[in-house]
Amino acid sequence: MADSSVADVDAQALLDEANSTSNGSAEPKFSLELSQDQKDIRDWVHGFAEGVVRPAAAEWDEREETPWPVIEEAAKIGLYSFEAVGQFWADETGLTLPIANEELFWGDAGIGMAIMGTTLAVAAIFGQGTPEQMGEWIPQCYGTPDDVKLGAFCASEPDAGSDVSGIRTSAKYDEAKDEWVLNGQKAWATNGGIANVHVIIASVDRELGSRGHAAFIIPPNTKGCEQGAKVKKHGLRASHTADVHLDDCRVPGSCLLGGKEKLDERLARVREGKKAKSQAAMQTFEASRPTVGAQALGIARAAYEYALDYAKEREQFGKKIVENQSIAFDLANMKLEIDAARLLVWRAAWMGRNGHKFENAEGSMSKLKAGEVAVWVTERAIQILGGNGYTREFPVERMHRDSKIYTIFEGTSEIQQLVISRAISGFHIK
Ligand SMILES: Cc1cc2nc3c(=O)[nH]c(=O)nc-3n(C[C@H](O)[C@H](O)[C@H](O)COP(=O)(O)OP(=O)(O)OC[C@H]3O[C@@H](n4cnc5c(N)ncnc54)[C@H](O)[C@@H]3O)c2cc1C
Repeated sequence: MADSSVADVDAQALLDEANSTSNGSAEPKFSLELSQDQKDIRDWVHGFAEGVVRPAAAEWDEREETPWPVIEEAAKIGLYSFEAVGQFWADETGLTLPIANEELFWGDAGIGMAIMGTTLAVAAIFGQGTPEQMGEWIPQCYGTPDDVKLGAFCASEPDAGSDVSGIRTSAKYDEAKDEWVLNGQKAWATNGGIANVHVIIASVDRELGSRGHAAFIIPPNTKGCEQGAKVKKHGLRASHTADVHLDDCRVPGSCLLGGKEKLDERLARVREGKKAKSQAAMQTFEASRPTVGAQALGIARAAYEYALDYAKEREQFGKKIVENQSIAFDLANMKLEIDAARLLVWRAAWMGRNGHKFENAEGSMSKLKAGEVAVWVTERAIQILGGNGYTREFPVERMHRDSKIYTIFEGTSEIQQLVISRAISGFHIK
């Protein structure tokens, strides 16, 4: 007994030493164990996903409409609010935001996107706006629990998807009136046209390509900002996607995110041939990639869990189908891939939150892996359910449809590979 207590003390001393720097200050220990706060938020979001989102999933997928009552429920419990997103973001490990997204999208991805779609607009305002702009516009993206509102982030255009430098929507400054005049067409905007606040990426100087872009707020009910065609989709059908038309749309000078002085400084630097610090659309996408990866993980985990339970129940040839190695190995690999993707998502989220540069495009890695895993896992889940998996009576068919967008939006899988290969090689891979 005496020996073991000496050994314990020594081990503790070694640990203490390992956890302190040469000047004696304590460094945080590496740990993948979630804190109590993280677990509480995870369980809270999971409870909502299980009790409210999942039971409504099939209905809103069929209706292909924005599930306003579910968003209202989310607002009532405080999940659909800037306070919640702010609280998730405040976690210094960076993990709470992906954890919350994984849980919500485990419930259902279409409804999840209807609830989280606003976050992209909020991220742009948060990342590029002044404190006054944040205070004015972020609350208007959410509204109140009694009168919920949405935000939309509009970068893509019919001829500018992967290649954002092709953005044609223009923003011209009318100095006499201190107003910006926007003209152009945005495509595939989540919440486009039904949002209270639209964030529009427009070109202020086409010759500069994506370095000549800026982000603008379009306040509620602004003349000249109209919804175009609503898109009918393969998956994520409870989330509204539409074109947005900007036709001589005038907004006050104060709607330029970050302000005119900052924009002029940046453009002057670019024109002098110096490097611009940021590009309006890219900045928003880079920060949001691990979160988007976490959404894909939620779908994958839901499909895996469903397939596992099914395989343990379903009998063919006088035994549970899970007793066949091919099924069991598939399930093992599904679990393995999901966990591997989660580690990449958590790493990127931690790096992003703690200001570490994505030297090897770790944000892109996380989104690429999670998106591909979600498509593969949900397809395998259909296979494990056999004929049932292919029907709308079982949710894995919807999950598979929902998963596919994760290899397309916020940068396709090919574009993520491009970003990673450029980062690791230093070459301008095309
Ligand atoms: C449901 C949904 C919601 C969306 N929400 C939003 C939103 O809220 N806001 C927004 O701004 N946009 C949104 N988008 C748009 C989305 O970001 C784009 O669809 C995406 O960036 C891909 O652009 P694209 O569709 O024009 O494809 P393209 O760029 O035309 O790509 C077509 C194919 O070519 C490949 N490709 C292109 N260039 C290269 C290259 N250099 N090397 C190798 N392969 C290449 C692509 O990987 C892809 O496989 C949404 C789209 C959908 C479907």
